[in-house]
Amino acid sequence: SRTAYVRTKPHLNIGTMGHVDHGKTTLTAAITKVLSERGTGTFVPFDRIDRAPEEARRGITINVAHVEYETDTRHYAHVDMPGHADYVKNMVTGAAQLDGAILVVSALDGIMPQTTEHVLLARQVGVDHIVVALNKADAVDDGEDAVLADLVELEVRELLTAHGYGGDAVPVVRVSGLKALEGDPRWTGAIEALLDAVDTYVPMPVRYVDAPFLLPVENVLTITGRGTVVTGAVERGTVRVGDRVEVLGADTETVVTGLETFGKPMESAQAGDNVALLLRGVPRDAVRRGHVVAAPGSVEPRRRFTARVYVLSGREGGRTTPVTTGYRPQFYVRTADVVGDVDLGEVAVARPGDTVTMTVELGRDVPLEPGLGFAIREGGRTVGAGTVTEVL
Ligand code: GDP
Ligand code: MG
Repeated sequence: SRTAYVRTKPHLNIGTMGHVDHGKTTLTAAITKVLSERGTGTFVPFDRIDRAPEEARRGITINVAHVEYETDTRHYAHVDMPGHADYVKNMVTGAAQLDGAILVVSALDGIMPQTTEHVLLARQVGVDHIVVALNKADAVDDGEDAVLADLVELEVRELLTAHGYGGDAVPVVRVSGLKALEGDPRWTGAIEALLDAVDTYVPMPVRYVDAPFLLPVENVLTITGRGTVVTGAVERGTVRVGDRVEVLGADTETVVTGLETFGKPMESAQAGDNVALLLRGVPRDAVRRGHVVAAPGSVEPRRRFTARVYVLSGREGGRTTPVTTGYRPQFYVRTADVVGDVDLGEVAVARPGDTVTMTVELGRDVPLEPGLGFAIREGGRTVGAGTVTEVL
C-alpha cells in the first residue's frame, strides 16, 4: 500500500546540466544508488531515467526525468533531461524551477559548447548556485592524465567566474558516476562528497509563502447575494479573510470577504492553493481572466521588457519560417493573453530552433518581473517559450 508523503525535511529542486555524454544520466543513477544504500532513496537505473516520459507544459513537449531522494538534512527533487533542446525549453519556461544545479563536466573532455550554454541559461533564469561534478575522474586518475583534470578544473572555475558565479568558491568534486554505479567504495564516497557539497553550498530558497500575495485570475463568477468571486492558484504569499488587495487590470482596491478551496471555507490560503476569493463591492464585469489580485503596492504593471526566448522548431510544432523585428504574436503571461511587438535588435532574425534575446512591447500593462516565464502563441499554437530578463 502507498503511504502519504510526510514532509520532515526542507525541500529543494535541483538538476544535472552539462554537455551531452559528459555523464549526467549516469551520475543521476549513481546518486540514487548511493542514497538507496543509505536508505533514504530508491535506486533508479540508467534506462529508467533516460527513457523519460514526455511532459506537456504550456503545450510544449518536454522530456524530463524526475527522481527524488533525501540526504541527512534535505529532500530533493532532481531533474535530468535527455537532450540539449530539452534543457533550453525547460529552463527558459521556468518549468525546471531549479534552486541549484549540478554542472557535470567530463574531466576527459573539458568544457564543451553545451557546458557554456547551460551555464549561460542558468544565470539568465536565476539559478544562483552551481556545484561542479568533474565526472569520469576514474579515467584521468594517474600521471599526465591527473594534470588534465587539474586543467579542466581551472577552466571550469574560470567559466563560472566569467558568468558571475564566483568560480573560486564553487565546490568542484571529482566523481565517477560509472564506478559509483558499479559499487566501487572509493567512488561511492565521492558521490557522498558531492551530495555534501550540494547540501552545504546550495542555500534554502526564499520561502515564497512569505512573499507579497499574488494570484493570477483564471475565472470570474457571481454568487447571488454575495458578490463577485475570482478563482485561481495562489502564485506566492499568503492571504487571509479581511486582507486588503489590489486588482491589477481592474485598477481597484478592495477587501477579501471570503475564501474557499474546493467548496470549503478557509481562513487563509497560501502559495500553491487553488482558491476562490470573494471580493467586496467589485462589479462582475470590472474583473477578467488575466487580471492579477495582489497585495496593494506590491507589483507595478509594465509593458516593455527584455527576454530570453526559445523559438520552437517546426518539428516541435513551432514555425518553419524565421521571426523578424516587427513580429506581433500573442504573449501568454500568467493567465493573461496580450499582443506584443517584437524587436530583435542587431540580431534582427531568429530561426526556428534558436534561442535569442528580444525586447517586447505589450499592448497593455501587466505585472512583470525578472524570471517570469511566458509562452508565445500564434494562430492557436505555441511558437516560443521565454523568460523575462529585465523590465524596462
Ligand atoms: P549524458 O548524455 O550527459 O546523460 O551522459 P550519459 O550518462 O549518458 O553518459 C555518456 C557516456 O559516458 C556513457 O557511455 C557512460 O557510460 C559514460 N560515462 C558516464 N559516466 C562516466 C564515468 O564516470 N566514467 C567513465 N569512464 N565513463 C562514464
Ligand atoms: Mg542523459
